[in-house]
Amino acid sequence: SLYFDYCASAPLHPRALRKLQASMEACYANPSSAHQMGFAARRLVEEARDQLSGLLQVTPGEIIFTSGATESNNLAIQGALRAWRRKTGLVPHILLSEIEHSSVYQCCKRLGEEGAEVTFLPVDRNGIVSVQKVKESLQPNTALVSMMHVNNETGSIQPVSEIGKLIKAQQPCVYFHVDGVQGFGKLPVAMDYIDLYTISGHKIGGPKGVGLLVKKENVELDPLMYGGEQENGWRPGTTNVPAILGFAAAVEAALEEREEKMEHISLLHNYVYSRLKGVPGIILNSPEIPLSSPHIINFSCIKKGITSAMMIGILEKNGIIASSQSACSSQAKQSRVLLAMTGDEAISSAGIRLSFHEAVKMEDVQYLTDAVGRMMNQLPSMNKFELL
Ligand code: PMP
Repeated sequence: SLYFDYCASAPLHPRALRKLQASMEACYANPSSAHQMGFAARRLVEEARDQLSGLLQVTPGEIIFTSGATESNNLAIQGALRAWRRKTGLVPHILLSEIEHSSVYQCCKRLGEEGAEVTFLPVDRNGIVSVQKVKESLQPNTALVSMMHVNNETGSIQPVSEIGKLIKAQQPCVYFHVDGVQGFGKLPVAMDYIDLYTISGHKIGGPKGVGLLVKKENVELDPLMYGGEQENGWRPGTTNVPAILGFAAAVEAALEEREEKMEHISLLHNYVYSRLKGVPGIILNSPEIPLSSPHIINFSCIKKGITSAMMIGILEKNGIIASSQSACSSQAKQSRVLLAMTGDEAISSAGIRLSFHEAVKMEDVQYLTDAVGRMMNQLPSMNKFELL
């Protein structure tokens, strides 16, 4: 089969795999232990932190290792809100887009149920929030704005630098959190106006179950968990040494190879985008480059009664692995993201996400688009059993 679900998870980069394997065998001591083997493990983690601080252009003390982006997002949002409420005694306000990843969206929704004020900003047909709307929605009690860099379903790029600049000019005390999971290693990022920044290991060639949160020095955060002093108390629990070392190697490779990889991925994108554009019955949901990151293309098949699940099944029978929306919300019948973009239930229940990687060859996407074209021709004559 041909895999086109790299956004859900990507293979380990060879450099990350080597680090992971070597440290899993050799580095089993607890890095918090006060003996030579513990110190040695601790040193490796701090070397990885120093390396990442150089790559991300932040200080080593501004990096908190976590179990992945879901935890980083929750720590950033719940942690900042808790600290804000403790400091001010007021009801906090959070601003986010309607198309945030569920680890941001559901977290904010829950905080809303617990008494915070929450504003979900709409997006346009391209899946992009209006900077003007962000400006108008800031309130005196706004504690945090959370905005993803690249949307994980459509690739739509948010103007995070512009939004950050605006927040800092208008209300400098408001924290700006960016979920950088799908943008990191794909697009350049400037950390200047960002207070809190999330990335995940397994989307960029690192292992699963590891990620980080950049927390700029001035940001006050309460931890989600209480326990030991690891990660300066912001993230207690025994440090996952092999995962962190593998992750750091993956980040280094991702940044080193970014431009070359994206050049190739853009060629794949352009080919698939232009071929799908001409297929009757297909609507492209991802905007064109440069409004979208080239590694994701989302489309819907708008033939009556066809759902994402049916299409995934048909594609899989043709040797193609695609996904409907994000793996984290694959049980939902409709895509919340596509609904926010289009307001159209048919489009939102028939979305397919293709995501690319440097390992994908041109002939693979030729096969892919041929198969999608064939599928669209055959759909009207398929009976309900073939569709299930
Ligand atoms: N944010 C975005 C934009 C994502 O795509 C994902 C992964 N689906 C996450 C957060 C969660 O990442 P993790 O799997 O590391 O918890």
